Amino acid sequence: MIDNTSQPKDNNFFINKHSLQAIFGIPGVVFYDSVISDNLILLSARLKDKTAKCICCGKRSKSVHSSYMRKLTDLAVVGRAVKIILKVRKFRCRYSNCTQTVFSEQHLPLTRKHSRLTDRTSHFLQKLLIEVSSRKGEYISELLSIKQSSSTCLRIVKSIEMPHFQELTTIGIDDWAYRKGKSYGTIIVNAINHRPVELLKSRDKEEVADWLIRHNSILYVTRDRSSSYSNAIKSGASKASQIADRFHLVKNLGDHIAHEIRMEYKTIKNSWLAHRKSLYKSKKITSA
Ligand SMILES: [Zn+2]
Repeated sequence: MIDNTSQPKDNNFFINKHSLQAIFGIPGVVFYDSVISDNLILLSARLKDKTAKCICCGKRSKSVHSSYMRKLTDLAVVGRAVKIILKVRKFRCRYSNCTQTVFSEQHLPLTRKHSRLTDRTSHFLQKLLIEVSSRKGEYISELLSIKQSSSTCLRIVKSIEMPHFQELTTIGIDDWAYRKGKSYGTIIVNAINHRPVELLKSRDKEEVADWLIRHNSILYVTRDRSSSYSNAIKSGASKASQIADRFHLVKNLGDHIAHEIRMEYKTIKNSWLAHRKSLYKSKKITSA
């Protein structure tokens, strides 16, 4: 139960249990108490199940050993921060062959082990923080009443699971800047769905070749005009076809046209002058 004595009673409101479930409802979780103050909604929650599955052997147990409380940050409601005081029970495992004597119940989909956030808050922050820097994330999360420090914001972004791709057959390789003009790495993109697959720390031939050797399903590689990448592909994926990417094809074409014009500039200029002269002459004859 939430201790109401620390809150000024005149400003506090309570929500009945049905409304709590309707507003905050998560399958398998019971919200059984609440206190609402000016800028905070405090909820008490526990799991509905009377038994829990042992994390080691998977057998269910109903023998409660003890309990403790966890405090979780949930998504804010109309500008009020929401905190959940979650009761966590410890169970005894009665299975004689199991090495785990006592275990804590798990709270998916409410939250994960050791997390101070509900899962829905984590997912929301992941979507937000992938778009902004950790410092901006700290500021925005404070505005949204789910304040996280910049280092936590960074940790949340790093915890995002990378998508698993089907077998890679067609990729694009290019460089990207850690710091423009100073240091560069290599980005590898799945050319079928245009999603990044890997960021390598350098543009070194050996590092790129190593990566290609580990991904031997690659058949086509689009690349820029760098000889380093060309050599890396020859060495790491010798059977793959190398294709100049669209940007560099257009650039190649532009460069060649400019070169041809430079080479033939004198001839073009002379023929233009001769043409202009003949036009001038024919005009003079007609007017005479
Ligand atoms: Zn067990």
